[in-house]
Amino acid sequence: MTRNIAIVGGGVAGLLAGHLLQRDGHRVTLLSEQRPDDLRNGPITSTQCVFGPRLRPERGAGLAFWDDTAPVIANGRLSVWLDEQCVLDWSDALLDSPAQSVDHRMKLATWMEALSDADGASVHYRTVDESALDALTAEHDLVLVATGRGRGLFRRNGELSQHTEPQRQIAAVYLRVPERTSVIDTIRWSIVPGAGELLVLPALTFTGPCHAVVVEALPGGPWDVWRDRPQSAELWKRIRELLRDVPREHEALAGTTLTDDRAALSGAITPTVRHPVAVLPSGRAVLGLGDAVVTNDPLTASGANSAVTAAAMHAAAITEHTGAFDADWMRRTHDAWWNAPGGGRDATAVANTLLNPPPQLLERLLVSANDHAFLRKFTGIIETTEDTDWLLST
Ligand SMILES: Cc1cc2nc3c(=O)[nH]c(=O)nc-3n(C[C@H](O)[C@H](O)[C@H](O)COP(=O)(O)OP(=O)(O)OC[C@H]3O[C@@H](n4cnc5c(N)ncnc54)[C@H](O)[C@@H]3O)c2cc1C
Repeated sequence: MTRNIAIVGGGVAGLLAGHLLQRDGHRVTLLSEQRPDDLRNGPITSTQCVFGPRLRPERGAGLAFWDDTAPVIANGRLSVWLDEQCVLDWSDALLDSPAQSVDHRMKLATWMEALSDADGASVHYRTVDESALDALTAEHDLVLVATGRGRGLFRRNGELSQHTEPQRQIAAVYLRVPERTSVIDTIRWSIVPGAGELLVLPALTFTGPCHAVVVEALPGGPWDVWRDRPQSAELWKRIRELLRDVPREHEALAGTTLTDDRAALSGAITPTVRHPVAVLPSGRAVLGLGDAVVTNDPLTASGANSAVTAAAMHAAAITEHTGAFDADWMRRTHDAWWNAPGGGRDATAVANTLLNPPPQLLERLLVSANDHAFLRKFTGIIETTEDTDWLLST
């Protein structure tokens, strides 16, 4: 049964949902305030590591354009550093299936052009305000809103949101791979208790393979040094300085430079869970997905992964459904994703637990250097966000 679906927002959630729905034979209209070239010429927005199982929907939709060129992220390395000494180092945390990170500036621009060329789909470039959104609900069977975090259409769910403030000050840069580095296939996660966490992962950007680096600084801690939102070069200079707390990374990234002058970002995110359905002045409802509804801190690299699962599950539910897409159907559809293993609730639980880990979890990690079963389980939960009860009870 062909439906008329409008999608507002051209991030990973909106674009993947659009492609999956188009593939299922629906008529798709996507509205984006950014054109493909705005994305390409803009700043980085993410480090967008998508774990193996979450790559399936984009492969299924024929959107895996970078499988031959993006670094294969096959391994994980987890380290804990105290006083510049490595007190836990697990370098063999093989991922169940390879992950991939393709600069969203390239990936989303290409997906947008592909959707605009696809039969039965169209892409329009404009900002959709509430009255335009309401008009869309009159003209379409269903309107999905995937406008990213912080746009306020969907009410905050106070019961499910643990935080009212950011839990980290975040910075990210993309760096050229130093010539002396032969293989990059490992996502490296370093924890410095009292300061924050550092993630270094292989990614693909316009200039080729690069290192994407995320620094998660504890508010008020020694790494909390970019609240003045410095320019790219200055941000990288400050990050380089604090890498001294993780000597291995300081050495590995010595002498490298930003891949381009827009390859840096700094900011802070308040992790927030929102009600997924908004009722507009006409009384008609819209369904949110992606960061518009559930925003987590990037510490556990979960946002794009969650957006993928939501897009895939919502698209399948839309195709299966033969009745009206009323507010009840929208809530049921969201709840099915939220409660699914590895769905929104699990991703949120993992992110919030690791943002404020109970002391016993850190202690357990520190004595687990040789307990590969424990470490495998720990890193496996970040990959799949399944079996979170185990993490919560550790
Ligand atoms: C530093 C950092 C690192 C991260 N690393 C990872 C990672 O490794 N792995 C991972 O899974 N996640 C990661 N994330 C999170 C991930 O990037 C996001 O969760 C994900 O991209 C959200 O996708 P989205 O489609 O919901 O929203 P967005 O990507 O924000 O897309 C929303 C789109 O809607 C458009 N829009 C907004 N309002 C309107 C409007 N009114 N009309 C028209 N268009 C509109 C916006 O311009 C934007 O293009 C990271 C985030 C950060 C900040």
